[in-house]
Amino acid sequence: MSRLENNITHLIRPEIQALSAYAIPDPGELVKLDAMENPYAWPEKLINEWLDILRNVSVNRYPDPNANALKTRLRTSMDIPQDMELMLGNGSDEIIQIIMMALNPGQVVLSPAPSFVMYNMIATFAGLKYVGVPITDDFELDMDAMTRAIQEHRPAVIFIAYPNNPTGNLFKRKDILEILNISDGLVVIDEAYHAFADDTFMAELNQFENLLIMRTVSKMGLAGLRLGFLAGHEKWLCEFNKIRLPYNINVLTQISAEFALNHHALFSEQTGRICHDRAKLLEELNKLQGLTVFPSNANFILLRTAAGESTRIFESLKSKGILIKNMGVTEGLLRDCLRVTVGTPEENRRFLAALSAII
Ligand code: PMP
Repeated sequence: MSRLENNITHLIRPEIQALSAYAIPDPGELVKLDAMENPYAWPEKLINEWLDILRNVSVNRYPDPNANALKTRLRTSMDIPQDMELMLGNGSDEIIQIIMMALNPGQVVLSPAPSFVMYNMIATFAGLKYVGVPITDDFELDMDAMTRAIQEHRPAVIFIAYPNNPTGNLFKRKDILEILNISDGLVVIDEAYHAFADDTFMAELNQFENLLIMRTVSKMGLAGLRLGFLAGHEKWLCEFNKIRLPYNINVLTQISAEFALNHHALFSEQTGRICHDRAKLLEELNKLQGLTVFPSNANFILLRTAAGESTRIFESLKSKGILIKNMGVTEGLLRDCLRVTVGTPEENRRFLAALSAII
C-alpha cells in the first residue's frame, strides 16, 4: 500500500471509505427523464426581464446572509403560517444535512424505506445511525413496524417524504398523524413534490411543535437555482441556523428565485400541465403488457417490469435516446423497477414509443 493509500485508510472514516459517491449520469443529448425536473423553459419576455434585473446585481458583494426579501416572497407564495420560522438551504439536500449535523453523533435517523436515498447517505456522513422501516407491498406505511421501530430506536428525527420518492404516493394522513403523536423526536415532512400533490402538512405546524416541513423549488421548475426551505417552530430553527454556513444562498439564487416566485402563475400553469400529462402517460403505460404501473401524486411514475428486465429495458431506452432511472438493481420492493419523470407531451410520446418497441 502506498503512503497516500495508507493515509486515506487511516484518516477517512471507514463508513465513508465504504460508500460510493452519488452517481449522476451525463445526459449528453438524451431526452432527460431521470431527475424529476420541470421540462419547460421560460418565455422569452420573462427571460429578458430577469436578465435586466441580474444586470444590477453586485456580484462583488456577499449576498444578504438572511435572504430576507426572498423569505418574504416564499412566505406568501408557499402559505407559510405567520408564526413559523423559515430557514433556507442550498437545495433541500443541504437542509437535511444541517438537521443531521445538529444531532448527537450515534443518534438514530429513521424513515420509511424505500425512500429518498439522501436520508440514509447524509446520516452516514453525519455519524448517525440510519434505520429504514420497510413499507408494505402496496407502498403504505407499515404502522406496526413503524411503531415498533420508533419504540425500539427512539429516533432523533424521522423523515417522511410526502409524496414518497421513488414510489410516488402520498402515505395515509392518519398514519403520519399517528407517527407525530407517538414520536418524541423531530418529524420532518419532506414535501419536495408538493407542486404535483394536492396535500400538505403545513397547517399542522401549529399543532405539533416537533413537526418541520421541508420543501424545494427544484421540482416546480427551478432546479438549477438550488433552493430549499424548512418551516417550523422558531426554537428548532434557531438551533439549525447556527449550523447553516453564512451566505449559503448565493446572490443569483436569491434574486432569481424571488423574481420567479413573483411570476408564480407561470409555474402553477406548468406544474398543472405536468399533472395533466401525468394522467395521460399513466393511461398509455397501463395499456402496455408486461408492466405494473403505479399511480403517482408526483411528477414521476414508478414502473415494475417483468422479473430481471429492468436493466435491459433501461439500457435499450438509453440506446434509443431516452434517459430514465433504473431502480431495479436493488433488492426488495424496487426490484425490477424503473422510474420515469413526466416530460413534455413530445418527450412522453418518444418515451412511450421507445418503450413499447422494447418490451
Ligand atoms: N427530497 C426528496 C423526496 C427528493 O426526491 C429530492 C430530490 N430528488 C430532494 C428532497 C432534494 O431536492 P433538492 O436538493 O433539489 O431541493
